[in-house]
Amino acid sequence: MDAIAQKKYDQIIGKLKKDGIRVTNIRSEVIKAIITTDHPTINDIIKIVEKTSANTNVMSVYNTLNLLLEKHLLFANTFNGKQIVYEIQDVKSVHLKCDSCLAIQHLDDQELQVIDESRLKQLAQNHQMTFDHFKIEIHGLCQKCYQKAT
Ligand SMILES: [Zn+2]
Ligand SMILES: [Zn+2]
Repeated sequence: MDAIAQKKYDQIIGKLKKDGIRVTNIRSEVIKAIITTDHPTINDIIKIVEKTSANTNVMSVYNTLNLLLEKHLLFANTFNGKQIVYEIQDVKSVHLKCDSCLAIQHLDDQELQVIDESRLKQLAQNHQMTFDHFKIEIHGLCQKCYQKAT
């Protein structure tokens, strides 16, 4: 894992420990797999974990995902309306989706710095809601599909 991935990993482990949750080997491997893979499905995660730990119990992979979802540490997204893909929850989450080939691009933390969430916080407050995070999906055509269409 690179430094950014390691930081994310440490944050999640820290939150789990704070809640008194034991970080078993399988839990640690599932979290690593999600951090280091772009939008993995459950099957992707199982395949990755099986490589690093022998005798992977598929049920514990499911249980870990449920635990992370319950703790609001994980997003379960669907980009094609069928498959669920996972990623670590962030305050800012923006994806670009091509409506023709359904390709997904994920904006990284540095790109997201241009987005100031204070107006969204204000909108939430207007509706007596606290603000925790936001998710945006930008739709359009990718360069390839745009060129095909014109
Ligand atoms: Zn496209
Ligand atoms: Zn993403």
